[in-house]
Amino acid sequence: MGTPKRVVIVGGGFGGVQCARTLRRHLSAEACDIVLFNRENHMVFHPLLPEVAGASLNPDAVAAPLRQMLHGVRCRTETVRSIDLGRQVVEFDAHDGHTGTLSYDHLVIGCGRSVNLGSVPGMSDHAFPLKTVGDAMALRAHVIQQLENAEVCSDAVQRRWYLSFIVVGGGFSGVEVAGEINDLVRHSRRFYPNISSDDISVTLVHSGDHILPELSLDLRTVAEHEMRKAGISIELNARVSAATADGVWLKDDRQFRGATTVCTVGTGVPLLVERLDTPKERGSLLTRPDMRLAGNEHAWAIGDCARIVNAHDGEVCPPTGQFAERQGRQVAENIIRVMSGRVTRPFSYKPLGVFCAIGGRNAVAEILGRRISGFLAWFMWRSVYLFKLPSWSRRVKVGADWAWDLLFSRDLVNLKTDPTERVSRAYYRPGDFVFKQGEPALNFYSVEKGTLDVIRTNDADGSEQLVAVIGPGDFFGEMALIEGRARSASVRARTPVEVTTLGAQVFSRISKALAPLQQRLAEAIRQRTTSPWTRMPHVHAMLSAQPVASFVEPAPYILDGNSTFEQVLDIFATHHADTVYIVDSERIVGVITRTDLFRVVDVVADRPVSERSSVSIRSLMSPDPLVMTMEDTAAAAALSMWSRGLKSLPVVTSEGGRLIGCIRAETVMQAVLRRVARPEGFPEPASVPARASLTSV
Ligand SMILES: Cc1cc2nc3c(=O)[nH]c(=O)nc-3n(C[C@H](O)[C@H](O)[C@H](O)COP(=O)(O)OP(=O)(O)OC[C@H]3O[C@@H](n4cnc5c(N)ncnc54)[C@H](O)[C@@H]3O)c2cc1C
Repeated sequence: MGTPKRVVIVGGGFGGVQCARTLRRHLSAEACDIVLFNRENHMVFHPLLPEVAGASLNPDAVAAPLRQMLHGVRCRTETVRSIDLGRQVVEFDAHDGHTGTLSYDHLVIGCGRSVNLGSVPGMSDHAFPLKTVGDAMALRAHVIQQLENAEVCSDAVQRRWYLSFIVVGGGFSGVEVAGEINDLVRHSRRFYPNISSDDISVTLVHSGDHILPELSLDLRTVAEHEMRKAGISIELNARVSAATADGVWLKDDRQFRGATTVCTVGTGVPLLVERLDTPKERGSLLTRPDMRLAGNEHAWAIGDCARIVNAHDGEVCPPTGQFAERQGRQVAENIIRVMSGRVTRPFSYKPLGVFCAIGGRNAVAEILGRRISGFLAWFMWRSVYLFKLPSWSRRVKVGADWAWDLLFSRDLVNLKTDPTERVSRAYYRPGDFVFKQGEPALNFYSVEKGTLDVIRTNDADGSEQLVAVIGPGDFFGEMALIEGRARSASVRARTPVEVTTLGAQVFSRISKALAPLQQRLAEAIRQRTTSPWTRMPHVHAMLSAQPVASFVEPAPYILDGNSTFEQVLDIFATHHADTVYIVDSERIVGVITRTDLFRVVDVVADRPVSERSSVSIRSLMSPDPLVMTMEDTAAAAALSMWSRGLKSLPVVTSEGGRLIGCIRAETVMQAVLRRVARPEGFPEPASVPARASLTSV
């Protein structure tokens, strides 16, 4: 007998597991060596993740250990990093940090899809995803904690806020998780006497006309009716454009407020697939009818990462566990056919039906063309999934959990698996408050993108004063944290803003351990407490009464984003320029200062002139610079320039952010001096000579 053929399977999900099982069932170890790579040592039964989030199932019931399920298969938890289709080799991150390699006779790629919430601003910062067991556990712990918070909260508005949940996406997982959260929160009320039914809101936000687009219209309508009856609000034709700590914003500028957002839409292409040099469509691997990769004899693709046409109806297969499992079985049969010199068969499958649990022991289903809803559908849904679970041990566990769920109330234990504070990111829309004056200090913030206003409110008359404008590279929130007092000012986003947030304990640990950060903090605190206005209150009053519009001048040197390095060099070499503005479609996207240029000039000077054009000016510039609007006060502009040591700031329109010109520290200073010399003559900015603009926009 010759050496066994090796089949390498990447991905231990629905597709990969079924493929490994079928191969092992038909081929002996002497005939075939089966190696399965899966990052986790278990397979996740995704359809039941909403039940874990809703505390009707325990997490271990939906994770089946691959090693115990797949006898005779070599299971490895290393991540496959790349595939060389020509040499028939996979490369993986070995346990010791090195790169391991393994050759194959046949390769099956079944690595699914990754979560990508990044296409909606703020979604990855503020929403819970639902893809892993960890995601489901984190969501469940959070929902239970919100119940605990609401129970002890005496303020009715805040209590309702704790219990406001938004689920984005009206597909199967969105509907199921909305139903589960609603059941968990409403059915647990008897253990939380201070919570009333009116305190709870669960909102399902969906972009289409009806939820569950995979089902027939009458079943969708039934599902919507039943869910509304159970207390869930359903918002249709609602396309989400941003998520913040306050909830979600829609494309039409409506907002749904909620303390908790769960996002069940947004998938991405796994890095492994992205790196693979083979034809793809929208990131999915293109396959031939027998599931072989286009143009390859030994590599096959199945499941969510592949684009497979179903020979049964000529349609592209949907990304479901049901299809992935069937593809896994049929791809194994095709590999066996190739090994024994037989002809392969195209993928063909007639789906038996679909189920969706909608909460309250209710489900909707279409089975073999028949439509069912209500308790019977729910009972069938549970029975089918019990049968479909990948091992007997899981069937028993899930069965026991469900029996418990029928007899007793849901388990409200909140095991704190992640009590430590983390560094996280947050997104704010224009007008959102990061924090308000008087609130307790909980976090430290560092600005990555966008501009924020620091505002102080006069307690006596409620009037607001803009005390500073901050932008990328700035940080804030440190003083109240260090001094252990409430916030002395509010911080509000002026443009879309992204910040990195450090909790108080992490901030304290990092700032103690990092000497340079300590110095920067001390310097910032010194600057903030020794604001120039404390010594010059009359100048402050004078500049506070003047808008930036009174001082605006033509912008300095302007280039568009596609300009070359040579053009920037030329401006600084031949003009007394200190800053060049980079503009795209009339909006400022970055600034380049002399210092920025000196940073790279050494490196670039050695290159032939012909190669210099390859240096992108976008890589030189400081992106998203701090900007002022015409309506801001000259005092805010002066303070921003003073605290950053800047000579000028760009001025833009408040609507649309179109570049108008700039405000210069020198001009403001001259006006102040003129006022001192001739008090009645202030200001006279019109006498400032306009600077010539080099514009290639
Ligand atoms: C919340 C939720 C509910 C769902 N409900 C249903 C439902 O009711 N019915 C239904 O039919 N479908 C449902 N689905 C969809 C279903 O889960 C997927 O279609 C199915 O899991 C796809 O199977 P797969 O084998 O392609 O990939 P997956 O099951 O995603 O498995 C891929 C595996 O590959 C591993 N992997 C990825 N890259 C690498 C690498 N480079 N190296 C090593 N390992 C790697 C991953 O860790 C993962 O374990 C649901 C999905 C979710 C998220």
